[in-house]
Amino acid sequence: MNEMNLTKQIRQVALEAGAALVGFAPMSRFDNAPPEYHPQNIFPQAKTLIAVAVPQLRSTLKTVEEGTYWQAYNVSSYYYLNDVFAPHMLRKISLALETEGYMGLPVHNPFYEDMGRKVRQEHVVGPDAILSLRVAGVAAGLGEFGLHKMLMTPEFGPRQRVFVVLTDAELEPTPLFRGKVCDECKLCVKECQAQAIGSERSVKIKIDDVEFAHAPLDTAACHRIHRQGVDPRYNPFRAKDDDSGDMYPYGEAILKRFCNLSVCVGRGCIRSCLDHLEKTGRISSQFKTPMIDKKRWDVIPDKEE
Ligand code: SF4
Ligand code: SF4
Repeated sequence: MNEMNLTKQIRQVALEAGAALVGFAPMSRFDNAPPEYHPQNIFPQAKTLIAVAVPQLRSTLKTVEEGTYWQAYNVSSYYYLNDVFAPHMLRKISLALETEGYMGLPVHNPFYEDMGRKVRQEHVVGPDAILSLRVAGVAAGLGEFGLHKMLMTPEFGPRQRVFVVLTDAELEPTPLFRGKVCDECKLCVKECQAQAIGSERSVKIKIDDVEFAHAPLDTAACHRIHRQGVDPRYNPFRAKDDDSGDMYPYGEAILKRFCNLSVCVGRGCIRSCLDHLEKTGRISSQFKTPMIDKKRWDVIPDKEE
């Protein structure tokens, strides 16, 4: 089968398996990637990176915005997409490639930066290397970076998860996205409770002839609010006088059951951004109920309850 027909077939398989967006990036698009993040650290014979994106259910973001229900996000938009849906979808894409005599290697999320020890001198890093899924999405033409560093697509803005299959097949590259989804409104910066998002696009990433850029993100600051929920003002599951550190009872239960604990759920970087993009018509997915239609919540201090 020639390159064009195989590309069409793999796109069709991915769409039928549940991908909403599919793009193909030749390895040359990673020429400027930091060596430790190169896809060939994972699959040395890779010639093409296939990026597939799946939307998070918008309702799972809306109920956190309302302050009523967190579990749907942690289950459906994180655990289910990462640990259940993606492995099925990626396996179908990989199997379609392997039926044609090529290899298809699924690259999952989450993975950890804690790489093992090198087994060959010529390797750049040890086994179980990582790559950046958001960079993969941009390199495969799905969208651009928002100011906040997330992948922004013209369909969903920041509301998707990206997964990857690496293959030794040479597939037809998807053109890079050259439009603008982000309009630099800076609501993500203003509404992030961790003040984790920088305000200038000082981090540059060159892919082919296009220079993409985003603001620096303080991942440690984000982690404390978003994942650990350390600030009781922004975490309704933590009592005011809770001194249990990272492992407060609700957090521990959610983490154990769903392998994920998101508390902030993108107050600035997803929900504010999405609300802005929807209201200004900058993305194609639109909804009858606005993402933000009332004053935003902080947990009520005990004396006012
Ligand atoms: S909130 Fe505004 S500035 Fe931030 S990424 Fe979204 S569109 Fe860009
Ligand atoms: S998840 Fe929350 S804390 Fe983290 S960057 Fe986004 S808005 Fe800020």
